Amino acid sequence: MLVVNISGLSKSFTRGKRALDNVSLQVREGEMVALIGASGSGKSTLIRHIAGLLRADRDGGMIEVFGEVIQQNGRISRGARKVRANIGVVFQQFNLVSRLTVLTNVLTGMLGQVPAWRGSLCLFTRAERMQAMTALKRVGIDGHATKKARNLSGGQQQRAAIARTITQGARLILADEPIASLDPASSRKVMNTLERVNREDNVTVIVSLHQVDYARDYCIRAIAMRDGKVIFDGPSTALTPEFLRDLYGEYSSELFAIPPEPAPAKGKVVEAQKDMAYAPS
Ligand code: ADP
Ligand code: MG
Repeated sequence: MLVVNISGLSKSFTRGKRALDNVSLQVREGEMVALIGASGSGKSTLIRHIAGLLRADRDGGMIEVFGEVIQQNGRISRGARKVRANIGVVFQQFNLVSRLTVLTNVLTGMLGQVPAWRGSLCLFTRAERMQAMTALKRVGIDGHATKKARNLSGGQQQRAAIARTITQGARLILADEPIASLDPASSRKVMNTLERVNREDNVTVIVSLHQVDYARDYCIRAIAMRDGKVIFDGPSTALTPEFLRDLYGEYSSELFAIPPEPAPAKGKVVEAQKDMAYAPS
């Protein structure tokens, strides 16, 4: 089953410059796909379109999610709201309401399922609270349930945001650079959590990553963008430093947690350098 089907998607924020330029791609159920690219390549813009948060140009193509057209030629479809209930979004930061407890934040994932009057008063049943606690347990931060969200570390906040997508019952998670502001250890925990939800619940995941090291470690498939275009869509193992240098030229070093050395002379040095670029951090 196709979870995401995009054809000919284009978006210009300003005249003459396309932030997305004729993007077409499909993602199947159960995939965990990395979206990579230097800053400004269009990753966030693409994710926001899939989430239905941005409208494409008037002649800007079509997006289907779970077989429903959610937007076409710059118009958001009527059915988009319903589809959006199945999409969980995790941003780089500002994911949670900082003054609310972690548990309440996770419970807000259920707002689409409980009567509005209860939701607006934050009145949740015991069963709903148990469900949210189970989600927190799954992401490994149930011990922090009663803390204010702002008192959690960045990585814990991201895991809480993932727990919220679990209580939401999301079938597609869009994560926009969820580890960009985290240290390596926290980054691993967040990526492991996404991977578990993907594997155990068969939730489709599209995760944008600034650095390709994580894409290679966690995602079989990677989609690389440059200047709003998809310039590579294939196995993430193909994303060697050399390949990326060909794709991105001078910007390629930006894509590694550990920047590769400048282009070496051809020969066995290349192998040594490759190991270095992917050394676990
Ligand atoms: P990435 O997430 O890969 O860093 P973005 O999707 O944020 O890239 O940006 C792609 C391009 O679109 C950039 O040139 C950026 O300046 C531009 N852009 C993104 N959002 C806006 C906006 N709200 N208004 C104007 N330009 C934007
Ligand atoms: Mg971005």
